[in-house]
Amino acid sequence: MTRPILATVHTDALVRNLSRTTREVASGGGVRRIRTWAVVKAYAYGHGLEAAVSGFAAADGLALLDVQEAVRCRELGWRRPILLLEGFFRPGDLDTLSHYRIDTVVHSRTQLEMLVAHARPLGIAAHLMLNSGMHRLGFQPDEYRAAFERAQRLRAAGMLAMVGKMTHFARADDDLVVTRRQLDCFVRITAGLPGPVSVCNSAAALSPGLAVSVPAVDQWIRPGICLYGASPYMGRDAQSLGLLPAMTLGSELISTHVLPAGEAIGYGHAFRTDHDMRIGIVACGYADGYPRHAITGTPVTVAGVRTRLVGRVSMDMLSVDLDPVPQAEVGASVVLWGRGGPAVDEVAWSSGTIANDLLSGLTNRVPRRVQ
Ligand code: PLP
Repeated sequence: MTRPILATVHTDALVRNLSRTTREVASGGGVRRIRTWAVVKAYAYGHGLEAAVSGFAAADGLALLDVQEAVRCRELGWRRPILLLEGFFRPGDLDTLSHYRIDTVVHSRTQLEMLVAHARPLGIAAHLMLNSGMHRLGFQPDEYRAAFERAQRLRAAGMLAMVGKMTHFARADDDLVVTRRQLDCFVRITAGLPGPVSVCNSAAALSPGLAVSVPAVDQWIRPGICLYGASPYMGRDAQSLGLLPAMTLGSELISTHVLPAGEAIGYGHAFRTDHDMRIGIVACGYADGYPRHAITGTPVTVAGVRTRLVGRVSMDMLSVDLDPVPQAEVGASVVLWGRGGPAVDEVAWSSGTIANDLLSGLTNRVPRRVQ
């Protein structure tokens, strides 16, 4: 008997969220060309590369992290650009990048030295990352132009196909002043340097007017989370942004019982009944990727009725309040998040985290079905 848990991936939502995002960005007007790298790192935020390659068929490129995932996209038939968001780690990776035409971010002197030392034509693009204030990866403002010019010399010598300019925002989701400051830094440091530009993640891409204010002839946005139907902004729901959930995590009730008032439930007895209460046990726990820190009250849908999680989530199970759904018996359908259930954002916010964390954290023991 297979455990009754399933993640359904909705390809139509991937298609729709991509077109919604690119339309939103284009609606600002003013910029000659904006293209999209659909970010599919972390196994397409948990949705699977197969679904992503078909759902994002209209994207201009894919951006991800692992060389293996990039190769897999090629095997699945993806022909357009692929970008490695953190670049490569070993000189030996470069032949693979060249063979599979995988473009790369270059964010450090170490990577640049590896490119120089390779000394053979690679035929790929290198996008030089500027640290404009996130202080994670990237060349410092005072070393960026020299690094860029070095990469340009590699291009002139036929080693690279193209050199691009990139940065990443730390607070595009909640602070436009900080974001503008980072953008100003990027514009100042890269002024006059040729090549494509890429600065916008989901939050920036969906911020009205931000992408079109980037002075670039050839701009690439890099949306991730919004393409999967979750909101890049804390407290602002994805539906209001015109996004559709791309994953439904479903399960079933595997046990029900009535608990008298005053009884406590699960590990730590973290929830105590204050009246005679019907409780359902659902086949989904933190080993499936459901957040252990979800609090009592986190929404769950049982047999089409919205109710709530009660008590602590355990490794393989969680408990729900069946008072609003007295007819629900063992086998009743449960939606933890997605279509017909709560938004993944709601579950994430009730757990002190973000949807990116939940979607990419869904574990391998949950079977996926692509629809
Ligand atoms: N670009 C880079 C460099 C990233 O690291 C990420 C993800 O963290 C993205 C783009 C996509 O971000 P989001 O999912 O917030 O759109």
